[in-house]
Amino acid sequence: MRLPRWSRQISRIRVFDLEDGRTLLRADMATTNDGGRVTKGLNGMTKGLGAIVTGSTSGIGLGIAEAFAGAGMDVMLNGFGDASEIEALRSRLAGTHGVTVGYHGADMTKPDDIDDLIKSAEQELGQVDVVVNNAGIQHVSPVDDFPTEKWNAIIAINLSSAFHTTRLALPAMKARGFGRVINVSSAHGLVASPFKSAYVAAKHGVLGLTKTVALECAESGVTVNAICPGYVLTPLVEAQIPDTARTRGISADEVVRDVMLAGQPTKRFVSVEEIGAFAVFLCSDGAASITGAALPIDGGWVAQ
Ligand code: NAD
Repeated sequence: MRLPRWSRQISRIRVFDLEDGRTLLRADMATTNDGGRVTKGLNGMTKGLGAIVTGSTSGIGLGIAEAFAGAGMDVMLNGFGDASEIEALRSRLAGTHGVTVGYHGADMTKPDDIDDLIKSAEQELGQVDVVVNNAGIQHVSPVDDFPTEKWNAIIAINLSSAFHTTRLALPAMKARGFGRVINVSSAHGLVASPFKSAYVAAKHGVLGLTKTVALECAESGVTVNAICPGYVLTPLVEAQIPDTARTRGISADEVVRDVMLAGQPTKRFVSVEEIGAFAVFLCSDGAASITGAALPIDGGWVAQ
């Protein structure tokens, strides 16, 4: 049985040149004792945290899971895909970064599956300090034509699943006095585009959930934030480039610049590595006062 985690000890470290006294390195070393394991981390203090990343077998979720593992965090993967490919991914992440990496195939439309995901992660990782609600799907259609089952599925995966993971993981985070909920919303959580009614409604809803829960646990050491990416180069997006180029009779470069990135002022995709690095920062102690925020990573999209 694990004893409750007590607050971290932080010691200042300074490495200096013996000859001229110049400071070469200044850092904070954090020692965390959760009763079962003692972990140490420099500066960011993410090492040893246990994180669930939903929808992490591909794209942005995978980028966040990679960044977490690289920051010394234990990770529970989730999402659909070929079983042997997922196992290869799980063992590569664990082997490369020397952290615990598990996998749970919960269907995020199913509250019972989500309950089991949280319980399994608590068992396999020791505790769940971080939940990233990333699993998401899209369907594009005019609202008067929008299939009801697509509407229901998008609301269930893109919005309601975040409610379920949050309500289930939050009590233990509050009891330990530390936690991070990171909801992957979208630039479409802040502005709309036509023909994406369910997606835009769900992503706006995620921001409402984020703000409300952030206020409810503001004094508990748990922060709740939403990341709002612009166009991200995931395998799904990459695969659309050759088809669009063929259909429109333009080059792949023109598809990217004039079609996909028409609304993204930087004229380049956001990378999954950039989102992963930002998610790691949100988990660190340096981000302790960022809560209830909708944080765009969108190359200037919503600045227009
Ligand atoms: P993706 O299709 O590459 O990945 C989606 C992940 O969700 C996969 O792992 C998939 O297996 C999983 N998933 C889908 N349905 C699921 C279900 N019912 N249960 C469990 N897992 C399920 O997509 P992505 O582009 O990486 O998108 C990830 C998130 O980022 C989504 O919430 C999306 O809305 C958001 N987003 C993406 C972009 C972009 O340009 N790619 C921009 C803004 C926001």
